[in-house]
Amino acid sequence: MPPVRPTPCPPSRMIDILNLTYDELEAWMTDALGEPRFRARQVWQWLWQKNARSFDAMTNVSKATRARLAESARITWPEVRTVKTSSDGTVKFLLALADGALVETVLIPSESREGKVRMTQCLSCQVGCAMGCTFCSTGSMGFERNMTMAEILGQVLVAREHLGDDRPDHPIVRNLVFMGMGEPLLNLNEVMRSLRTLNDEFGLCFSPRRITVSTCGIEKGLRELGESGLAFLAVSLHAPNQELRARIMPRAARWTLDDLMAALESYPLKTRERITFEYLLLGGVNDSIDHARELARLVSRTKAKLNLIVYNPAEGLPYEAPSQARILAFEQYLWSKNVTAIIRKSKGQDIKAACGQLKASELAGQAAGDDMAEGTDGMEAP
Ligand code: SF4
Repeated sequence: MPPVRPTPCPPSRMIDILNLTYDELEAWMTDALGEPRFRARQVWQWLWQKNARSFDAMTNVSKATRARLAESARITWPEVRTVKTSSDGTVKFLLALADGALVETVLIPSESREGKVRMTQCLSCQVGCAMGCTFCSTGSMGFERNMTMAEILGQVLVAREHLGDDRPDHPIVRNLVFMGMGEPLLNLNEVMRSLRTLNDEFGLCFSPRRITVSTCGIEKGLRELGESGLAFLAVSLHAPNQELRARIMPRAARWTLDDLMAALESYPLKTRERITFEYLLLGGVNDSIDHARELARLVSRTKAKLNLIVYNPAEGLPYEAPSQARILAFEQYLWSKNVTAIIRKSKGQDIKAACGQLKASELAGQAAGDDMAEGTDGMEAP
């Protein structure tokens, strides 16, 4: 019997095909479209490995199937509003989602042992953020909504297309970090779906060893993330004691530092795996030797390494970068206590690369009647 042809969906009920996991895509294509299972694999590879933006591009899929797909589903990528490239090679994208919501993603370059440029991509997972950390431009905007899996992974598709990165065996975007806008554990469902899809060998093919999820310390979801084994964990600490943490990260600090550390002590880690702690050095706030002493004691409770991030000053926020002397003294103290601490320099300072800064300047520009899409403020066209 020939397969039953599904009734075409009206546009508003079209399936967002990038929002389906592989199992969901296969079930939909076999059940609703009457297609054989191997067809789902072909479509999946077009979507995630060959950057197809239309069903027409899927040339090894029959015309009839492409027509059926186009009647019932859409492929929606985030729209690139602006791209800025820093003198240090950092690339920052401001993206508009289908409803016009703006999010940011950043590519941070590094060099491989063979001298090739490799990129780490920083992904957003929410539009805005509810956590309100006082040093963060995104935090000052408040929370708008969660991003879907399609929107989260759409950032990777956009970046790969921008770079001409189409060889899964030698990708230019090597590593992904969930450190952009939003708190991943507050959008756990879509983040977990994204991690599973990233991990698919016929899709984007990112091994868990190349993905880091960063949380500011949310109880719910922490265990599930650890047990999934789908990513490394980073925890944004930024203060070595509860009192200071409550001052600079008031919402995150509702789960006390002591309880957070107790949960991390039993966090499931693979052999030789460590938790990364992020510590943003804010001049005159958390960068003294006393703070370093407290911090060394605190992180020694777990198998950990520390990333010391030098604050990237942002307009409207009341913080400054620490002096070079204080940064070095802080780092040296930690090493003297056998804590692995690495200074991570903020990149892309000339393009507002810190989380939320580009969107903030876009919104400020709109309020002032500027038209950023015209390429003002040094923006490059994609
Ligand atoms: Fe949210 Fe992260 Fe900014 Fe805190 S630092 S407000 S968790 S985006």
